[in-house]
Amino acid sequence: MASFDDASVDGDTLGGAFAALELVPDTLTYTRCTIAQDADKTWRVAYAYSFCGGPEAWMKVTLPPRDAMNDECRRVLAHAGLVLLCWPWMATPCRKIVCKATALTADQRQFWADFYREAFAEFALHNNLDEDACDIEVEAELAEDAEPVAAQHQGDVRVLCGLGGGKDSLVAWLLSTRQPRVSTVDWLYVDDGGDEYENSKRLQGVVRTAGGAAYLAKHDFSNLTESTYRTPCGHPWAALCAFDGVGVAALLGYDGFVVGHERSAAEGNGVFFGGREVNHQFDKSLAWEAALRSYLGRLSSVSYVSPLQPLWDLQVAGVFCLEVSLRPFYSLFRSCNDSGDCDAWCGACAKCAFVFCALSAFRDDASRIFHGVDLYGEPDMIPFFEELVGSEKAMDCVGTARETALALALARRRRKVIGVALAAFTDGNVRHAHLLIERGAAASAPAWWDSNVLESLDSVKALAALHAQIEEERSKGTYVNRLCAALPTEPVDPSGWTRRSDGQ
Ligand SMILES: [Zn+2]
Repeated sequence: MASFDDASVDGDTLGGAFAALELVPDTLTYTRCTIAQDADKTWRVAYAYSFCGGPEAWMKVTLPPRDAMNDECRRVLAHAGLVLLCWPWMATPCRKIVCKATALTADQRQFWADFYREAFAEFALHNNLDEDACDIEVEAELAEDAEPVAAQHQGDVRVLCGLGGGKDSLVAWLLSTRQPRVSTVDWLYVDDGGDEYENSKRLQGVVRTAGGAAYLAKHDFSNLTESTYRTPCGHPWAALCAFDGVGVAALLGYDGFVVGHERSAAEGNGVFFGGREVNHQFDKSLAWEAALRSYLGRLSSVSYVSPLQPLWDLQVAGVFCLEVSLRPFYSLFRSCNDSGDCDAWCGACAKCAFVFCALSAFRDDASRIFHGVDLYGEPDMIPFFEELVGSEKAMDCVGTARETALALALARRRRKVIGVALAAFTDGNVRHAHLLIERGAAASAPAWWDSNVLESLDSVKALAALHAQIEEERSKGTYVNRLCAALPTEPVDPSGWTRRSDGQ
């Protein structure tokens, strides 16, 4: 609220505007969602937000062409505006959110209050907001409770796979293609406004290699006011992709939207805000996905399928490294968010460090991704490895400390030259080997999805064999090096690597 350092200023003389400001509640309003179609049949969706009754700010998304848009798609898109609202909220945090764009049931209002409590925690922590800053009141016209939308499957099943560019979406894609009832697997890329897909030969290479069509949901955040806060962070991208994915699947007539969210995402970051643990990846966790699935099920018949939930991130990396049919993607995938370029690994962030650990646990050529540089030999990388094995998880999409410790031990087990990092964080023993075979709870899946496909993968069997070998070594007290069979190598494009210290 307005405050004045100069005590001589008389509030009464400032006129009605300031007086009104005192009376207006601290409110961000999602005012409307408008949907229009271009001559080329492309769909343009615009979301309007207003802070304290001020002028509207717009966020837009462009969706693939289609003659008509059904009600299911329109509903999902309207509700997606409540995820996008996180962006303007992080420019101007406030205690109350009013949704005028769509009516909400009591359960739906609670869903969003729970969502914002999780989604805003990282931002509130980094910006020193009040302890109760994430306790948001959500107001909307009351909607009547709705039953789940019944699916109408006729014949073969068609799915849309979220294209992230990393190993997880490729493993989820592989499971989709192996499904007996799934006839079509296509891709959806959610673009944050930089024409990422058009400019990325990696992303296009993934689609070309995998096959299938690629569709884009192109966001435009350019109308947003710059945050006055120093640390914009914690935007719920996975939640946005979920709504976009189900919405586009409904638009284009797909039966499911498949994502590659793994079990490690449910583990928090070991730091607390307002008494609750912050989780950078809360919107990939099993619990959040269950609530989301129930929410989306009342808007659309499209299934939200999350087949990697039983797997640790390191197990997903194992499947990626050891599954023969995924070898062509080794030179194409990318999991770094910090390089500022869709095609580049920065080689100097927590995610690059974790992926290097995870790959080097199963392959000897992890350094090829980083221009031949062995990140274990780089003193600059020590703080990242230290963070990864520490009690506070990096605010990035990385595996847990135990997985990192296991990956480091497995990497050491494969190598003659261990480098400074492996020397610092391993002692030659392999701990937590059970993480290679352990399974977490599976996410609820539609009847047409066969969960047994995961266990039938050769790479999953190879992980079990590796676990058995480690157990045998331990029981005998021996230490056998290089038990994983050497894999053939694929060329890696050298332009795909930049070092931040090289000028970025
Ligand atoms: Zn990086």
